[in-house]
Amino acid sequence: MNGAAKPTDLLGYYDELLGDAERDKLTSLRELLDQRARPHLADWWERAECPEHLRAEIAELRMEDDPVLLDDGGRLNPHYVGFRHFELARVDMSIGTLYGGQVSMFRTVVREGGSPDQVARLDPLIPSFQLTGCFALTEPGHGSDIAGGMETTAVRHGDTWTIKGRKRWIGNAALSDVIVVVAKDAADGRAKAFLVPREAPGVRLTDISGKISLRMVRNSDIVLEDVRVEESQRLQRIDSFADISAILAQLRFVVGWNAAGLQTGAYEAALSYALGRQQFGRPIAGFQLIQEKLARMLGNATATLAMAVRLTDLHRRGAMGDEHAALTKSWTADRARETVALGREICGAEGIRVDNDVARFFADAEALYTFEGTHEVNSLIVGRAITGLSAFTR
Ligand SMILES: Cc1cc2nc3c(=O)[nH]c(=O)nc-3n(C[C@H](O)[C@H](O)[C@H](O)COP(=O)(O)OP(=O)(O)OC[C@H]3O[C@@H](n4cnc5c(N)ncnc54)[C@H](O)[C@@H]3O)c2cc1C
Repeated sequence: MNGAAKPTDLLGYYDELLGDAERDKLTSLRELLDQRARPHLADWWERAECPEHLRAEIAELRMEDDPVLLDDGGRLNPHYVGFRHFELARVDMSIGTLYGGQVSMFRTVVREGGSPDQVARLDPLIPSFQLTGCFALTEPGHGSDIAGGMETTAVRHGDTWTIKGRKRWIGNAALSDVIVVVAKDAADGRAKAFLVPREAPGVRLTDISGKISLRMVRNSDIVLEDVRVEESQRLQRIDSFADISAILAQLRFVVGWNAAGLQTGAYEAALSYALGRQQFGRPIAGFQLIQEKLARMLGNATATLAMAVRLTDLHRRGAMGDEHAALTKSWTADRARETVALGREICGAEGIRVDNDVARFFADAEALYTFEGTHEVNSLIVGRAITGLSAFTR
């Protein structure tokens, strides 16, 4: 049978989980991205150019703080938050990081780690990008083992702290007013977090170049050489690595939505190509083997979305465990890699050209696979939960 392409959200989550105001907001986001980003993506990607101006344009949509979106307690519906990540990743995950690094990562760290006074002062400035920030945990010598291996130190003299060390891979740092630097308190060996102004004396940033994934994101190497900050710039409710882990756990429910969005974007691009490309006198979308690949792509994207929705429900009820988030991260990022590879196959030679959207998703899936805890480390967290045996222990 010939006919129109079937809708992407086959299980109908979008209509069921969102209200009218939320759907309208996401439609505005989609329109903005279609007009202001989509036509330029290949060019920005190839030149590794960060479309910094989009932050203000997206902020004007008031995706985070429009009163029509907030419940009586001033909170957003977590499914809306998830779909907001989904829509961004569906167009481009670099842009998702540009925006989400601020309103999700930075904002959550401030909200969860700051004293009531710090939150009252700083939080209202974050959705509008009046105060920009990022989160610096990873170091050149410590990624997966950062909890035990952190080398950046903070020494306190009276009300002043002196920070010394290095950070690596820090997304959006070059665009941030403040960098949340996690350092080990030299006195008690516990993790603390500091709001370090990017332009403070002793802070040096270098862009990491030569990336094959998320090329539009500015990731920085940071050197901190005897950087002085006041006690008032320390996030007061972070006093251990367990506090950091608890904050990162708040953010985990987002990962599956990014994986679902990225796969959906790749699927839609591959479907569009398959419908337009003629071989042997007919669209390749009509060939059985192409349809099988499209069905697998859609199955992966749909199952990923289902898992993200379930994890979000657990998160909302306060019932999300480390193993739930870890399984979602490791499985959905794995599916994302498979999905983009199928899309690339469907597009043949054009699938390796960057102005074919699928190639961009193909490359960006690699970052998704590694950040927010690598595939392996998340699998080990699941392994520990199901066997009772920790593969981390020496
Ligand atoms: C695009 C991008 C953006 C990022 N943004 C930020 C940011 O904003 N802030 C920030 O702090 N960090 C950021 N990171 C860093 C990210 O969190 C780390 O890349 C991640 O924690 C993994 O560390 P690593 O890359 O050093 O890998 P490593 O820890 O060196 O791991 C290398 C390999 O060894 C495997 N491995 C490690 N330990 C084990 C083990 N016990 N058993 C089995 N396998 C193991 C890993 O799974 C991986 O395959 C970003 C990374 C990327 C790629």
